[in-house]
Formats: sequence, structure tokens, C-alpha cells
Amino acid sequence: AVANIGVVGLAVMGSNLARNLASREGNTVAVYNRSHEKTDSLVAEHREAGFVPGYSYEEFAASLQKPRTAIIMVKAGAATDAVIDELMRVFEPGDIIVDGGNSLFTDTIRREKAARERGFNFVGMGVSGGEEGALHGPSLMPGGPDESWVTLGPILRSIAAVAEGEPCVTHIGHDGAGHFVKMVHNGIEYADMQLIAEAYDLIRRGTGKTPAEIADIFAEWNRGELESYLIEITAEVLRQVDAATGKPLVDVILDQAGAKGTGAWTVQTALDLGVPVSGIAEAVFARSLSSHPEQRAVSHGLPGPEEAFSVDDVDAFVEEVRLALYASKIVAYSQGFDEIRAGAARYDWSIDLGAVSKIWRAGCIIRAQFLNRIADAYAAEPDLPVLLTAPYFVDALTRGQTAWRRVVATAAAAGIPSPAFSSSLAYYDGLRADRLPAALVQGQRDFFGAHTYKRVDREGTFHTLWSGDRTEVEAEDTH
Ligand code: NDP
Repeated sequence: AVANIGVVGLAVMGSNLARNLASREGNTVAVYNRSHEKTDSLVAEHREAGFVPGYSYEEFAASLQKPRTAIIMVKAGAATDAVIDELMRVFEPGDIIVDGGNSLFTDTIRREKAARERGFNFVGMGVSGGEEGALHGPSLMPGGPDESWVTLGPILRSIAAVAEGEPCVTHIGHDGAGHFVKMVHNGIEYADMQLIAEAYDLIRRGTGKTPAEIADIFAEWNRGELESYLIEITAEVLRQVDAATGKPLVDVILDQAGAKGTGAWTVQTALDLGVPVSGIAEAVFARSLSSHPEQRAVSHGLPGPEEAFSVDDVDAFVEEVRLALYASKIVAYSQGFDEIRAGAARYDWSIDLGAVSKIWRAGCIIRAQFLNRIADAYAAEPDLPVLLTAPYFVDALTRGQTAWRRVVATAAAAGIPSPAFSSSLAYYDGLRADRLPAALVQGQRDFFGAHTYKRVDREGTFHTLWSGDRTEVEAEDTH
């Protein structure tokens, strides 16, 4: 056995991760793919990597030193289960099986339990950064047992992206914790992208600026507090001209956004946990709405605002949109971290939220300066219940809130959909409200279903005899 690490699944992600591993001092990488052509072409095209190809699971296992360590990079779902079964067939107890695919965390919890019962160390690992990240340094979110971390930790640290001298990998927590955090990362990514898209739309429709001019605005924003990979690539996309028509590329791309499902998972999980990730949900729904051309076609004739939308002071409006974007972004991240906190409590993971924000600073799609501020917030107060109440964010929201309100009001008056901007503001106002109309909802629930209510002035649970004489009685707590 000559290899210290193996990769199963040599499509884009697996082959790039294998090359990344092979490029690091001290690694010899065994590779396996179901169809042998992929194995052969990877080995032939990258002789410098010194890959050790396996053409059967037996051969792959035999080439690995113990404890055998293999990273699976295949299609999530049944394919991953099939590969895990094969590896457990040819591996021995104590060996480490890492699933680097985009698996649903509940699948990871199930797989970890089954593998543990057979003596294997199973690690579900979130990998972010796409193919570039896999090759040059991804952000890695491994879960799994502590024991696996001894062997795996140094290998992962050597291939991860580096942010300010620190590798973007940390042992997130047990079983499904890594895939859970990766899922929320993707949810936040959806929200961030939608917010940026809304900012672009408002500026374009409000000021008549061209995509190339708006690209310059985003490039400028990327030099300030909004500095991030997503803002940077937004400028690149807006500046791109279509070779065939000479038009801005963004004007010839069909306006129907696709999704691979991780955003929806984030929202479904948040619903189960009772965490209001409204910004992420709106981003997922905005993509769904865009992808129903038949419904959009029959709705085109619906009335819109009677007055045309125009902005008087263009520079001031652009600055207000920037402030609104930043404030909404703070809400989206605050909601995402709230979901991680709630997930950790539900599944009994001990997750260091500051460490999570740090490993997202490089390698992944939501990488940004901003994440340092989140790390600072959790360093100052590890149990911070609401991220956006950290002093730095309060300061940003204080600076931005007036502009944010104006932008949301303007968008509504102009008939420009801004679901992520406006739902983020509603969340913010909901959180800071002294009293919420939830009191009335409780009254309604008690009226039709005797669901009872609590009072502000007395302990206990109460019910009003709505269909009787409407006096109040003490009730059993039925929620
Ligand atoms: P794909 O998701 O397209 O998966 C293709 C790979 O899966 C091939 O190696 C294929 O083998 C293998 N495979 C499929 N079914 C089976 C099976 N039943 N048994 C064995 N192998 C099987 O590849 P990607 O590289 O795009 O992604 C790999 C994983 O990484 C996925 O889970 C993905 O969600 C995740 N991921 C992807 C990112 C991205 O940006 N693309 C980012 C982060 C994670 P064969 O060649 O024989 O068909």
C-alpha cells in the first residue's frame, strides 16, 4: 500500500480535489471511478500527480495505507449509498470514509450511524467553492467522529483555502453537522445572490444605467464594506457583452433561475426547526416564481403603479440601495447563523459559530471580509442569541435603516419586486417590536380552537368562553 488518501468519483469535483491533494507535500493519492475512462484520462493528463489508479474497489482498498482514508465525490443520494456500501465491503473497521458530496444532513446522520455500528469512521463533509475551489483550495466543513479528525485533520488543512494565514477547515461537530452547515452556507448564498440581483434591478429600472455602468458601481462597492466574491463576480457578469448580438449578456440570458435544491433544504429544515429564515426563503421562492413562464405570461397584463418610476438624485439613490443591500445582507447572515444554532441544539452538536464564519472567509462562494465581523461578534459573545444585535452590526443597521426603508418603499411604489429586501426589513422590525400582533393571533386561535393563551400580567394559561358568557377561565396548557 502506497497511498495515504484516496478519492472515489472523478468527475469535475473529485478529479480537482484529487489533483489538489496530490499537489501537497507528503500525499500519494489513490483514485477510483466507476467508469474506467475517467480514471485513465485523469492519470494520463496529470502524470505529475503520481496517482495510483484502482480499477476495482479491491484494488483501490489494497493501495491505501491503514487507517484507509477515502473521500467520496459522487452524485448525492443513491450513488453515495452505493459507494459507501462498496467501501465498507473492502475496507476494515477503523478506516475512514468521507462523503464530500452535497448530501442532505439527515442522510449523513443515518449513514454515520450505520457505519459506526460496523466500526467505520464516517465523515460527512461539506465542500464549497466549485471546481476552482476543489483544485486550489475549498472551504471544508467536515462532521463525523473525533477519532477521524486525527488522520483527516492534517490532510484537510493542507488542501483547504487559506484566509489570513488560517486554513478554511474546522471539525464542525458530530455526524451530520458538517453537511448541515454546508446546507445553510448554500441557503445564505441564495439570499446574498437574490439581494444583489434586487439591488441591480432597482438601480437599472430607477436610473436607466446600463449593465456596464452598474458593473462599475458593483466594482466600486467591492472596495468597501460589501467586499465579497459575489459582488466581484456580479460586476464581471454585468460587464460581459454577448458576442452574437453585441448586447449585454445579462439581457440575452433567459430570466428563469435554476436551483439544485440545497436552498430549499435550508428552508425546509428551518421550517422544521421553527427558525424564520425569511430572506433565504424569499430567495428560493424568487427563483421558483421566475421559473413559471406560463404563469408569468398570463399575469403580464395585471395593473401596476400608475406613475412612472424615476429617481431624481441618482447618486443618492445608488448609495441608499447600497445601504439597503448591506442591511439586508446582515439579516440574511443573522438568520442563517440562527438556523445553525437551532440545528446544533436540536441535533446535539457543539458548533463554534465563530469558527464557522472564519472557514467561510476563503474558498467558498460567500467568501467576504464581512465574515471577520461575524467572527468578532462571536468571539466577544459566543452565545450571542441574535447575530445582528452585535455592536458592529447595530452600528451598520443604524447607519442604513433609513435608506433601507426608503428603498423598500420606493420599490413597492414603483412596482419592482424586492422580496428579499422587504422581507429582511420586516424581520428586523418584527424582532425589534415591543409588541407584536401575535397577541391577536393567539386570541383568534383561542376563539376557534380553544388553543388558550398566556397573559402579560399573570402566570398561567387561560381560555375565554367565547361561545358562552365570554368570561375567562384558567385552562390547561395545550399551546
Ligand atoms: P456529479 O455530481 O455529476 O457526479 C458524477 C460522479 O458520480 C461520477 O464520478 C460518476 O461516475 C459518479 N457516480 C454516479 N452514480 C454512481 C454510482 N451509482 N456508483 C458509483 N459512482 C457513481 O459530479 P460533480 O463532480 O459535479 O460533483 C460530485 C459531488 O460533489 C456531488 O455530490 C455534488 O453535489 C458535490 N459538489 C459539487 C459542487 C460543484 O460545484 N459541482 C460543489 C460542491 C459539492 P461515472 O463516471 O462512472 O458516471
